[in-house]
Amino acid sequence: MTKRLYYDDEYMCEFDAQVISCRPAKQDGKWIVTLDQTAFFPEGGGQWPDLGTIDHANVLDVHERNGDVEHLVDAEMLSGQNVHGCIDWDRRFSVMQQHSGEHIFSGLVHGRFGYDNVGFHIGSEAVTMDFNGTITEAEALEIEHAANLVIYENKPIEHFIPDAAERATLVYRSKKEIDGDLRIVRIEGVDTCACCGTHLRRTGEIGQIKVIGVQKYKSGVRISILCGLRALAYENQLWQEMEKIHRMVSSRWEDCASAVEQIIEERKSLEYRNGQMAMAVFDAMASEEQEKEIRVVVCGQLSGDGPARAAGKLSAGAQLALVTGGEGDLVQFALCSEKQDIRPITRLLCAAFDGKGGGKPDMTQGRIRKTDAETLRNWLIGQMK
Ligand SMILES: [Zn+2]
Repeated sequence: MTKRLYYDDEYMCEFDAQVISCRPAKQDGKWIVTLDQTAFFPEGGGQWPDLGTIDHANVLDVHERNGDVEHLVDAEMLSGQNVHGCIDWDRRFSVMQQHSGEHIFSGLVHGRFGYDNVGFHIGSEAVTMDFNGTITEAEALEIEHAANLVIYENKPIEHFIPDAAERATLVYRSKKEIDGDLRIVRIEGVDTCACCGTHLRRTGEIGQIKVIGVQKYKSGVRISILCGLRALAYENQLWQEMEKIHRMVSSRWEDCASAVEQIIEERKSLEYRNGQMAMAVFDAMASEEQEKEIRVVVCGQLSGDGPARAAGKLSAGAQLALVTGGEGDLVQFALCSEKQDIRPITRLLCAAFDGKGGGKPDMTQGRIRKTDAETLRNWLIGQMK
């Protein structure tokens, strides 16, 4: 069994060891190495595996198997060889910030609501925790506040293996029934939890905890948090984005949302007026068509539902009405008839004018190549013969 140096010292980032075995991995050019002792934490309990180097080989993954810690590396080693291991400390420290922060948050939720964290995951973006009960956004922010107070108190994060007597009376959170040695992680007055991961020495090192998501999940809630430097990076990004918006809308930060809302409302009213003007242009063009059996109007100003509404109007009393709208190589079309099923002719129209479309027997819509009214009318007349 590999000796786990990370349990003696969770801050150990370099160590010496002897190679016990090295065998080829399934992947080409990769080997699986076991050592007599290691500071590399294997993936487990929601915590990422450590990465780093063993001598000149890169450590690409670390797993536990039959009591041994297996390192996936990209260079072969010899059994008996003495090696030096280095952990990617920035990555490990961030994981310890996220993991320790999760203990505080889950412990506070458990203390206040009695809910369990039934799904813990350190993602590449955020830590997610699934609780088996509902928590509102406002309550999550209250927990966030309380969690940050625990950080400022800089409480010690202890871990210990209780003896049988202690174990019988100890109240602790646990993800599952544990056989064998029970490793307890405790933050006095906040959380007592069975956990085999790595943690910081004191809560102050977490820096801060920021809630970034509260979603309904199954019968409970999924809360996403960021801890430490991740929270800082997120806030920096948020600040930069908000600065851009705040300059664009020339408002104070706290008024940005209402300024954006106003812009959206103005845009809606402009679109409405634009639609009305387009319809007026269409009406003028349509007046010349009224006596014809096959009516065609090409009106660039029409967009959105404009062509369909216009074709509906134009088709009253006609055999067929075709309206196209919009600018560009492909334009919108709407084909309408009160007298015939226009789906077959729509298929031919799309084939002839490089388009796509479909719909109901009396109304089809789609897009075709931009074409003038005369060409379209002549083509339609040709089809009717
Ligand atoms: Zn833990």
